[in-house]
Amino acid sequence: MKILVLNAGSSSQKSSLYDLGDSLPGRPPEPVWEVRMEYGVADPRDQETGESSAHMTRVRTKARGTATETLADIGSRREATEHMLASLWRGDAAVVSGPQEVDVVGHRVVHGGSDYSDTTRVTPEVKAAIKRLAVFAPLHNQAELEGIEVVEQTLGAVPQVVAFDTAFHARLPMSAAVYPGPYSWLDLGIRRYGFHGINHQYCAESAAQLLGKDLDSLRLVTCHLGNGCSLAAIRNGRSVDTTMGFTPLDGLMMGTRSGSVDPGILTYLMRTMRRSGARLDEVLNHESGLLGISGVSSDMRQVLAAMQAGNARAKLAFEMFVHRLRRNIGAMLASLGGLDAMVFTAGIGENSPEVRAAAGEEFGFLGLKIDAAKNTQSRGDEDIAAPDSAVRVFVIRAQEDWAIARECWRLLRAAASDYTERHKS
Ligand code: ADP
Repeated sequence: MKILVLNAGSSSQKSSLYDLGDSLPGRPPEPVWEVRMEYGVADPRDQETGESSAHMTRVRTKARGTATETLADIGSRREATEHMLASLWRGDAAVVSGPQEVDVVGHRVVHGGSDYSDTTRVTPEVKAAIKRLAVFAPLHNQAELEGIEVVEQTLGAVPQVVAFDTAFHARLPMSAAVYPGPYSWLDLGIRRYGFHGINHQYCAESAAQLLGKDLDSLRLVTCHLGNGCSLAAIRNGRSVDTTMGFTPLDGLMMGTRSGSVDPGILTYLMRTMRRSGARLDEVLNHESGLLGISGVSSDMRQVLAAMQAGNARAKLAFEMFVHRLRRNIGAMLASLGGLDAMVFTAGIGENSPEVRAAAGEEFGFLGLKIDAAKNTQSRGDEDIAAPDSAVRVFVIRAQEDWAIARECWRLLRAAASDYTERHKS
């Protein structure tokens, strides 16, 4: 089964093609074809003319192990997606003979509201819901809907599937989902949705697999620490609490996002300094977090390097990041009432032994012990807890595209066996 995955962002798009057989491999396979497109890249010719217009698209392709990179002058995001799809069967990186060879297309969609708690086939109703929910995630949902439409036009009637980043959290208990404002907020759709659900779910399944236990018997805290950071408390395979909320701004301190701050700060700034909503959005999303406090970078590697070189603000940024991580892990533990395993994933979670060690340190009272050597040497998808630790600690590589491909495979398989059953009787 040839599965194409489209993972569209506001300024970039990732796509992968997986070729799967009759059973799912235990470990994530390499895609046979992968394209990463980045929009709004500066045109090198501008240096000669003195102009500056960031209108180019950087296209990085990896097909059957060979990598290439080009800078293309493509007019719009829609055209870029068309160009990317056509390169599946045309040109040097072609891996299929034509569009008819693709069996299913899976899309990551950021916002599925509270109605979608599972991966689902694209129908006119699902498209209408993605459009309606764009009010909550304007940059993302619109780009993702456009991707679905371009596939319809280019590949025709191929089955399409959407995996929502909110779906895993859609059945949060109401006590965790509702904000304690006026009850009317709930009617306006203002509630905790949570994000990074595709990866939280994937990490929970992978942790159960590594433990050799049934997910239904486990209590897990998954720590997704990338540019965006969030935690999920997972009991019996269900997300029962999470730190991101109505928007991906809530919760942990992040690269450039503040995470939770006293809402009184915002009304104070509006009242006394006449800050507009748009300006506050900008400050909270792009000028806060590691970057805002350190003044060095949003990248944890650079914050750590500056801290080691004696930069006091970088040290404060690191200590705040860890403090907020620990106190939110504590909150997730309280929602779970116990812990079998903690998982670290995404850029910082997978690559920073410093953050993992500092986050785990204070949970010794639970009997949690990280093995120092395993922590520094970890290459991912393994247990880094000491043998006598009462809680397992996993590092799991985020594999969003693979997680979506796997869901597509399961959904199509289930549909095919339903069909066979119906035609037997
Ligand atoms: P995104 O959330 O955009 O998908 P990633 O999951 O790739 O991002 O995480 C990006 C972040 O991971 C970077 O900003 C950087 O801070 C962090 N990171 C990557 N490698 C390391 C490392 N070796 N040590 C510490 N942090 C790292």
